[in-house]
Amino acid sequence: MFKSSWTYHEAPESTDHIQIKEQYELYINGAFTKPVEGKYFDTINPSNNQKIASIAEASKKDVDKAVKAAKKAFKGWAALSGKERGKYIFRIARLIQERAREFAVIESLDGGKPIRESRDIDIPLAANHFFYYAGWADKLAYAFPNRKVKPVGVAGQIIPWNFPLLMAAWKLAPALATGNTVVLKPAETTPLTALKLAEIIHDSGLPKGVVNIVTGAGATGAEIVNHPEVDKIAFTGSTGVGKYIQNAIAGTHKKVTLELGGKGANIIFEDAAIDQAVEGIINAIFFNQGHVCCAGSRLFVQESVANVVIQKLKDRMETLIVGDPLDKNTDIGAINSKKQLQTIENYIKIGLNEGGEIYQPNCNLPKKGNWCAPTLFLNVSQSHRIVQEEIFGPVLAIQTFRTIDEVIEKANNTPYGLSAGVWTQTGSKIFHLTQKLNAGVIWANTFNKFDATSPFGGYKESGFGREGGLHGLSSYVTFD
Ligand code: NAP
Ligand code: MG
Repeated sequence: MFKSSWTYHEAPESTDHIQIKEQYELYINGAFTKPVEGKYFDTINPSNNQKIASIAEASKKDVDKAVKAAKKAFKGWAALSGKERGKYIFRIARLIQERAREFAVIESLDGGKPIRESRDIDIPLAANHFFYYAGWADKLAYAFPNRKVKPVGVAGQIIPWNFPLLMAAWKLAPALATGNTVVLKPAETTPLTALKLAEIIHDSGLPKGVVNIVTGAGATGAEIVNHPEVDKIAFTGSTGVGKYIQNAIAGTHKKVTLELGGKGANIIFEDAAIDQAVEGIINAIFFNQGHVCCAGSRLFVQESVANVVIQKLKDRMETLIVGDPLDKNTDIGAINSKKQLQTIENYIKIGLNEGGEIYQPNCNLPKKGNWCAPTLFLNVSQSHRIVQEEIFGPVLAIQTFRTIDEVIEKANNTPYGLSAGVWTQTGSKIFHLTQKLNAGVIWANTFNKFDATSPFGGYKESGFGREGGLHGLSSYVTFD
């Protein structure tokens, strides 16, 4: 994901011909609709903190309209043959591909991630997700052999700001393939690609009301969660809001899946291919500014190779380019919001106060906007807050270990259980660790690799339910 240390000059990605409106409305019942209470909020470009556009803020009444539209559309959509539903989903996938450049530029403008990542990872993966689930729509009998399945009904879907289009794809594609209708809310700081997606969905001719997109902040999300006619909640976001949602729906008929936070362990054994492992560490923590639920934010290096790995890591960090998200040479873009930057800076202070030894390379951070230098901490232990708590930024906590049992114990010792990475040339060690590590996804000799065919989800406070792959269909069906 990250380029090697040499650079060449290419012009920043141009924003010419990228259509961004001054004001965006809600997408309800197949129409772009003004919010009932007439409120709008700004979406900001985090690389300069300037306003990009005004976005409609959905109130309780708007959410109610969207849920009613989804409910009305449900019968017809669920009754369509899988083949017909699949055709629409394929069309959406194709339209994303056709407008991939536009999506990539808007994603980087609105959210701050490097254009190389949105262009090469987020947008292609989002299209793939629709392709993959389009393929399942007429094969549900094979997905659930000898079971009679029905869609759940109206799905309320709430997503975070770190992979805006991709998370929308993860939510929408399996819900549509199985015959559900949807009310989706993107995060307040990154609504633009979901609204572009609404335009594409409109162009695809999808029957009205099948997908409704309502923008707003946490209060809009809560209105979806609490609406009595929503049958399923699919949420990706923080563990705190996940707990609120679980409480809010206790005792109701609603089904729920929660994809929450993480504190992934990335484990480097002495027999690993060290240079590759160093690239893997960089990718694990600095990809998307570390705004990644499954980031490898805790590094465990076997003691015998710790000095060499840490030195190489510091050298490599010196070459990382922090800056304009639209510049194709950029490795680390802007921090998504002022608020998130404050959270990260606060954790850096906490790390220092706890006695951690900090290292940051000499990099020139731009003057305007939200920026954080890639950061690592040495001299930390299991009880440190920066080892236990999710920072959601480019901050790595490094510890060493001697034995396999020790590293398994340490890796599992957090409230989370979302991801882990293992670097070794020994296959048996990989199999041993994949059995012992309490994580939904474990990568071997790679990190942060995503694929539509592969299930993703957590244990413990990282949530429950799986998205992606065959497993991702289950939470959108009920069994007779
Ligand atoms: P967040 O604050 O929990 O927000 C997630 C979404 O929930 C946003 O759309 C948010 O709206 C909305 N929301 C906030 N309060 C709500 C409420 N009371 N009821 C209903 N919805 C509410 O999380 P975030 O800061 O956006 O995202 C970062 C977190 O997401 C991290 O903890 C990360 O680990 C997690 N994450 C997990 C996965 C995974 O697959 N496990 C993937 C990506 C991210 P507004 O933002 O508009 O206020
Ligand atoms: Mg923004």
